[in-house]
Amino acid sequence: MSSDRWHTPAHEALRVRPDVDLAGFDHASTPGWDGDRESGEERLAERGQQLSALQEKLYAQGRTGGTRSVLLVLQGLDTAGKGGIVRHVIGMVDPQGVALRSFGVPTPQEREHHYLWRIRKALPRPGYLGVFDRSHYEDVLVVRVEELVPPEVWGARYDEINAFEAEVAAAGTTIVKVALMVSPAEQALRLRERLERPDKHWKYNPGDLDVRTKRPAYEEAYRAVLDRTATDVAPWYLVPADRKWFARLAVTELLTHALEGLDLRWPPADFDVAAELARLDAMS
Ligand code: AMP
Ligand code: MG
Repeated sequence: MSSDRWHTPAHEALRVRPDVDLAGFDHASTPGWDGDRESGEERLAERGQQLSALQEKLYAQGRTGGTRSVLLVLQGLDTAGKGGIVRHVIGMVDPQGVALRSFGVPTPQEREHHYLWRIRKALPRPGYLGVFDRSHYEDVLVVRVEELVPPEVWGARYDEINAFEAEVAAAGTTIVKVALMVSPAEQALRLRERLERPDKHWKYNPGDLDVRTKRPAYEEAYRAVLDRTATDVAPWYLVPADRKWFARLAVTELLTHALEGLDLRWPPADFDVAAELARLDAMS
């Protein structure tokens, strides 16, 4: 029972190309995917098992001198579903091997440092699947839109981020950057739900509505990010997020593909297996 309904692999269908058009973007589309929700959920479960097995190998390698790691960078406007990706995609793998970091408004201590200081500290060590819920990209997104620093300061950051990510990649980290894009209408529904359900109030921030009114400026800032920081070593994937099942499936595929590319193997025993078995037999 194969539920592979990708007519184009996710890493090709979703990869950001130059001059991406965000205004004309269909947020409910499922690029590369032919199936419906049900087949998507089936495929997600299958690929989730593969992802989990691969991540265990990555972790095992990290414990035995391996140098590789993977970093998933999640960006998106409020309600785009970053938390859902963490829960439903990352939730499928062994938490031992996951390094999850969320980046909010910088603390006074963080503010005393270069904006990449807190990012560097949070990079995944060898063997880990790192996840950034927001990232250094906030320093050219909210910071740009809210004019928290002058244009010449944020303007210099794109090249600096590219150089930083090239360095991280060269050190052994496979970087997968995902921009989750939710439509204004779907965002309104999700914000309303956060307001109407007491179990969701904790996710709501009155400032979210102010951000919503600045959507064109955010789209422009996202366009600049996608245009200027999609590189071969750190590609961006643009994921339509109105259908949560699709966004979760897409990120699962992207991560699984990234891990498959590492050609991971189980670390060989550094002891004589036959001799150990013989010893154990002698004991029983
Ligand atoms: P949330 O992800 O909903 O918990 O919100 C985190 C908030 O922190 C968002 O409103 C971000 O825009 C904000 N944030 C994250 N990074 C920065 C930054 N470097 N400068 C200013 N605000 C930031
Ligand atoms: Mg929020």
